Amino acid sequence: MHDIHYAITPADPAAHLFRVRCVIRKPDPEGQILSLPAWIPGSYLIRDFAKNIVSISARDAGDNTLTLHRLDKHSWQAPPARGELRLDYEVYAWDPSVRAACLDTEMGFFNGTSVFLRVHGREQVPCSVAIEPPAAPWGPNWRVATAMPRLDAKPHAFGTYQAADYDALIDHPVGLGSFTLGRFEAAGAAHEVALFGRHHADMDRLCRDLKPLCEQHIHMFDDKPPVDYYLFLVRVVGEGYGGIEHRASSALVCARDGLPQSCTPQDAVDERYRELLGLFSHEYFHTWNIKRIKPAAFTPYDLQRENYTELLWAFEGITSYYDDLGVLRSGLITPESYLEMLGRLVTRVLRGKGRLRQTVAESSFYAWTKFYQQDENAPNAIVSYYAKGALIALCLDLLIRQTTAGERSLDDVMRVLWERYGKTGTGVPEDGVETAAREIGGDELKTFFDKALRSTDELPLQELLHQAGVTMYLRAAEHPQDKGGKRRADGAPAVGVDSGLRFKADGNSLIVIAVDAGGAAQRAGVSPGDKIIACNGLQASNDRLVWELAAAAPGDELRLHAFRRDELMEFQLELQAPEADTCYLEVDSGADGERLQIRRGWLGR
Ligand code: ZN
Repeated sequence: MHDIHYAITPADPAAHLFRVRCVIRKPDPEGQILSLPAWIPGSYLIRDFAKNIVSISARDAGDNTLTLHRLDKHSWQAPPARGELRLDYEVYAWDPSVRAACLDTEMGFFNGTSVFLRVHGREQVPCSVAIEPPAAPWGPNWRVATAMPRLDAKPHAFGTYQAADYDALIDHPVGLGSFTLGRFEAAGAAHEVALFGRHHADMDRLCRDLKPLCEQHIHMFDDKPPVDYYLFLVRVVGEGYGGIEHRASSALVCARDGLPQSCTPQDAVDERYRELLGLFSHEYFHTWNIKRIKPAAFTPYDLQRENYTELLWAFEGITSYYDDLGVLRSGLITPESYLEMLGRLVTRVLRGKGRLRQTVAESSFYAWTKFYQQDENAPNAIVSYYAKGALIALCLDLLIRQTTAGERSLDDVMRVLWERYGKTGTGVPEDGVETAAREIGGDELKTFFDKALRSTDELPLQELLHQAGVTMYLRAAEHPQDKGGKRRADGAPAVGVDSGLRFKADGNSLIVIAVDAGGAAQRAGVSPGDKIIACNGLQASNDRLVWELAAAAPGDELRLHAFRRDELMEFQLELQAPEADTCYLEVDSGADGERLQIRRGWLGR
């Protein structure tokens, strides 16, 4: 047992309660302060995890009850005490995401940020953690999945684990339950995949594909990975997609049908599996880019409040660029398949009018209140530092390849960042990424950065792609579900007009989710939340609206009846010609010389 020791038990799975004990051998003689973080690194929103502590008590070495003084919404102070201080508390855990904690009779999951009190002033002290099994009848076959180093626990068993300091303690999420385990080696390091939840996944196939995917990221940065063990902790659900990165693991949520099944052809990568490989790739790339190459603003994290940086475009955007590119580089998909994904990414960015209002530097800075708290006006007001950030990374990569005649690329910038900041543990200053890029690509990148990061000007995608032997085409959307990436299907019915409505079907009505700034719907007064019950005098449905739009020409009117609250409203929309905001990319077969060389360096042969 270390000087700071925690014991966590899934005490009452049916009530979603973890019981935690924290023992401090040498508490602050002035009165020990304890708190839970307000947020979890990797997800930039104040979540106030302490709100889930449903009971807390303190005792001294003589087992006398101590009165805890409440300091604020997430902090307590114990009275001055001699000898050991012991805290017992219960945490309500029923958050299905990967950002907090969850417990039921099937499985348990927790991040340290949700369950382990920070012992103020002792953050650098190593601690031990006893992870205990639930009492009968629950969890007879449960095991433990975590990258937290073991103290006396056997692999995947309940027992005692350890962390070098508080920062490490909260950076090793833990999964409890009966899970499927896959194992592979990447560049000599052991990697594991733990799948929780019901599934029919072909684990051999998954591991076979993840190996080259992880290896190409490793080899881009260095010869060996920064960890000797890595864990993908995956929760399989019906519908879901997302993840959060940690120093030696990541916690992912994925859809059952996105996983490869034993019946799927062994070399086929369908759209959903391609997307899932992109997620694994994304979280794994973060092992370098943000977990070790880290903004100075996060070095160290201030866990009580928002930590501001304008660099999230680099940490999330560059990571988003390399996630799909990594799937291509590992040979799992073709360049055509990769270009389809890239075309869809361009489409997503072009369709958001918010890109004309907000820069990616602003989007990064205000992540806490805007990107992470999106409302119906988000498409008109903000730009994603993920999506536009990935396009900026693409532009940078192509620009550097162009200015260095194919000799250097964004890979070289990442290696500079790794050597300079990642390996030394130094925080990246706000201008650190730009400086590194200019060292590799030349000072002419300054103009690009000013425009790309600090203005809302369009990115020079078309020109840069052309120089890389790829042609970028723009067309109007064919139908409301058209995500782009592909040329117009022969004979496809075209939507000849744009209504500026974003909606979802709800029985015999359509609920307006958002209206495009300056679009036909907004000009006619349609608002988010309106419940459309008729289009041109006929009962509303998705098919009806699509049909009415297909039959219309620019300048025609569309009559909508809708309820706003309980009041019936009527709107006349003057339909507009659709914008060419749907992108697809094709290899230019006529490209030769330097253009061909750049394309080969970028997409492979
Ligand atoms: Zn990310």
